Amino acid sequence: MTATAQVEFSLPDLLRCAGARIVSERRADCPSCRGRRTISYTADVFNCHHAGCGFRGSATTLARDLGLAKRLSAAERRTSARVRAQAQQAAAWLTAELRARRFALYDAHQALLSIVFGASARFRRDMSDEIAWAGLAYAYPQLDSVRAELSVLEAAPIPDRLILLKQSDSHHKEIIRRAIERGGVKDANGRFVEIEVYCPGVFQV
Ligand SMILES: [Zn+2]
Repeated sequence: MTATAQVEFSLPDLLRCAGARIVSERRADCPSCRGRRTISYTADVFNCHHAGCGFRGSATTLARDLGLAKRLSAAERRTSARVRAQAQQAAAWLTAELRARRFALYDAHQALLSIVFGASARFRRDMSDEIAWAGLAYAYPQLDSVRAELSVLEAAPIPDRLILLKQSDSHHKEIIRRAIERGGVKDANGRFVEIEVYCPGVFQV
């Protein structure tokens, strides 16, 4: 019976089994060339950077090399293929939805900027121009909100992006309000990403 390998162990566990010493969440000593901290690894793949050392691969290949991969039956293999196909469909749907929303926001951003440009032109003639002030009062809060939403959609972890796409208005507003308040969002690695001001210094009187 042919069988497909499936990994049940984390990559650090597998590296340990292969004789590597884990020195940090991303680094390990190499069991092949004895290099210190020369392996960098993620949840799925590893690579020894030492010149001439070919110790690299994925959790799947390492588990197979170590004889730790579970052998799947034909039925398990079909289930696994179906789950993978569903995950790929979901990922494709998410990518398309996110792209559509981002393009809508870029358009809104452009429209708001033209209001700001228009106001700026009116102010050059008359600083007390009420239409110009009304335009700014309308455009600036919305610009903040559009930029904050774009930064969430571009940088935030997937669950936050999904909430923006799928959830109710109150969740939606809360995520955007928090991003505006903090001036940015945390990405999936916990790194702070500032809200991008796509066209800074547009309005100068
Ligand atoms: Zn090595």
